[in-house]
Amino acid sequence: MSFEEAAWTGLARDGGLMVPEAIPDVQGDLEEWRTLPYRSLAVEIFRRFVDMDSSTLAATVERSYRAFRHPEVTPIVPVGGLHIVELFHGPTLAFKDIALQWLAQIFETVLARRGGELNLLAATSGDTGSAAIAAVRGLQRVRIFVLYPLGRISSLQERQMTTVLADNVFCIAVQGTFDDGQAIVKSLFRDLAFRDRLALGAVNSVNWARLLPQMVYYFYAAFRVMERTGAPRVQICVPTGNFGNFFAGWLATQMGLPVERLILATNANDILERFFRTGLYERGPVHATLSPSMDIQVASNFERYLYYHVGRDPDQVRDRMATFETSGRLLLPTGSDGRIDDRIVSGRADDDETLATIRDFYARHRYLLDPHSAVAVHVARRHADPQLPTLCLATAHPAKFPDAILRATGADVAYHPLLDDLEDRPTRRTVLPASVDAVRRFIETAVTSATVPLSPPVS
Ligand SMILES: *Cc1c(COP(=O)(O)O)cnc(C)c1O
Repeated sequence: MSFEEAAWTGLARDGGLMVPEAIPDVQGDLEEWRTLPYRSLAVEIFRRFVDMDSSTLAATVERSYRAFRHPEVTPIVPVGGLHIVELFHGPTLAFKDIALQWLAQIFETVLARRGGELNLLAATSGDTGSAAIAAVRGLQRVRIFVLYPLGRISSLQERQMTTVLADNVFCIAVQGTFDDGQAIVKSLFRDLAFRDRLALGAVNSVNWARLLPQMVYYFYAAFRVMERTGAPRVQICVPTGNFGNFFAGWLATQMGLPVERLILATNANDILERFFRTGLYERGPVHATLSPSMDIQVASNFERYLYYHVGRDPDQVRDRMATFETSGRLLLPTGSDGRIDDRIVSGRADDDETLATIRDFYARHRYLLDPHSAVAVHVARRHADPQLPTLCLATAHPAKFPDAILRATGADVAYHPLLDDLEDRPTRRTVLPASVDAVRRFIETAVTSATVPLSPPVS
């Protein structure tokens, strides 16, 4: 399948996830890549996976990062002995902008050539939705339907989505958890007749094209820190929910980026933390935490890692995922230390530890971490090898989570001008039960009727 088809298809037609046919070995390119600015590095990495000419690719990259407020796109800030990789300088202040801005540019580039329209469908635990909406708002041939769990994302996150009143944007508050929303989306994609008739496309990290832009900052940040410290290798700590970000980093290491270890950090929703420690992948209840974008039990990208882990055997992946679906658990053989992968270490932070980390980092360094980034910092402090430089991915701007910041520091210190005026703007959303049929009917009506029935503004 071409890259374009993969981006278009999102979830594979049999319900599985797509992976590249081969992972390119770029070790011979690293010397040259080291000095490239962010955008040029992105083009070089994309060229290894995307069958488009370099000038088209460069144009998509240029347009994607225009709305970023830092010239380096992802600046790396040394704080408290760590290197904080700030991934939140995009239009919605979360790292998902980095991938979604580019994905929207790819959709637009291809639609401009092919014609037709696209209806994007996404489940979000908060940040994907707003980043996807910001990336496609106002596009001519693309609509977006975003499902989020009612009452389980921060009110700011919700307003970042529902204040966008563009005709092509539909926010659906589902009466259930994030996993319910994700299950509905997966089920609609499995309904092939519906999917084809409505030209459904995916922006969740099930879409292979989402993962590519996320590899770029692993390379860029590792190069900056190696240059800064003179170290030949680094370790990188990643706050993890759906495992997309982490998997992009893992792919970068498979391509030859010298990362000694990847450190996986979860909140109390620790299915992945347990898996990498014990080999048991077992579904538990979803806990609402201060880092809602990681309140996920079933990590959609896990299957990709599993594929490589079982020796690239699709039949084994299919069997094991089927077992997981019916029994809610999956046990894989581990090494003698009980771990699954000797290059991956995992740890978790509960809400108290998250708050303590925010408080401590602010008191000592005057640096505000958002709760997701604080989970990573907490875990990095416990599990990092002290001999190696440690990068921590900071996935959201603290101003997106003012309540947690207030609780942690006792002060209302987190703000950002982009968020300040959301409070007073009109909003639009539709509340639906956590039912595949209800969501299917809503989308069908919105797409097929000229005038879309919209729910009244939420007060
Ligand atoms: C989405 C998100 C995460 C989790 O990333 P995954 O790719 O789903 O593992 C972490 N932090 C923030 C702020 C996010 O928006």
